[in-house]
Amino acid sequence: MFDSVRTAFITGVTGQDGSYLAELLAGLGWEVHGLVRNKPDYHGDPAAKTFTEHQGDITDPSALQRVLRVVQPDIVFNLAGSTSVAKSWEDPAATISTNSTSVATLLELTWRMNQESGTNIRFVQASSAEIFGSATDVPQSEQSRICPVSPYGASKALAHNLVNIYRTRGMFASSAILYNHESPRRPMSFVTRKITSQVARIALGHPETLQLGNLDATRDWGWAPDFVDALYRVGVAAAAEDFIIATGISHSVSDFVRCAFEAAGIDEWERYVCVDPQFVRPADASEMRGNPAKARDVLGWEPTVGFKEMVARMIQHDLLIEEARLGTALNLDGKST
Ligand code: GDP
Repeated sequence: MFDSVRTAFITGVTGQDGSYLAELLAGLGWEVHGLVRNKPDYHGDPAAKTFTEHQGDITDPSALQRVLRVVQPDIVFNLAGSTSVAKSWEDPAATISTNSTSVATLLELTWRMNQESGTNIRFVQASSAEIFGSATDVPQSEQSRICPVSPYGASKALAHNLVNIYRTRGMFASSAILYNHESPRRPMSFVTRKITSQVARIALGHPETLQLGNLDATRDWGWAPDFVDALYRVGVAAAAEDFIIATGISHSVSDFVRCAFEAAGIDEWERYVCVDPQFVRPADASEMRGNPAKARDVLGWEPTVGFKEMVARMIQHDLLIEEARLGTALNLDGKST
């Protein structure tokens, strides 16, 4: 059984998923260590920072080796990397260095540690639905063909294949194939958070428009803390495997926009939205929808927060942020006059 107090090493611990995972594991009594770059952009609750920081960059093999030796983890959760599909078109080589080469390094270092010290360190890779970019089967399953359409998808596909190779060598190495998952901690570079923050501003009276790219793209959007619970379950599962982590329900970008305006109390959303070609990608995965049956059957995992509720939570959060900003601006104005 893999249920006594454990030590986890999380790369990408300062991001949306890493911060939720650190909080989840610490709450379960785990000892949590995280890899932190010099100037991290921490997305979690600073008051609830529940992990030991280790300075280092995911692309620096010597830093990875040093931290692994110090931490001696039971599980490595590899969540670090460049997460933006849009940005991967701007710098494909950097995307591959962070998302593929560093996974090869981390897998090999973990493998060698296991060989040299007789340990059985587990490895959980945050894989991505983008590996199925041009898949024609909908929903996609663990057996779907790997056929990325973006540099990001290609980088995650290589990492995904490497995990399979180390599993074949006998290592406990699993991939959680994560479909899009959102929360108030999502960076603004993702369409969901871009929409909710902008809709919150519009709802509070800012005379703005929402400029977007492809409104017809369809994504299987889930609630990030649910997906982090799945990562944990993949790590403590009886056997190493690949698992699709998805809700099984997809919505278009325009569905998300409509729902966000509704949650903010605005009906006529079309007049606030326009398409800007700069946000339309050279190629875009069309319908991303995963079949989570295996995760449900093997891991007992199920999403707990539906689409509408997720959008409403993000809108509530962004309304509070925008209200606080507005309040500060009004106070500053008051002082200066
Ligand atoms: P991704 O699925 O990991 O690329 O997550 P994103 O949130 O970045 O994009 C989801 C979908 O929204 C993609 O199909 C994008 O093409 C589409 N989209 C439409 N407009 C925008 C936009 O302004 N920004 C982003 N990031 N995506 C957009």
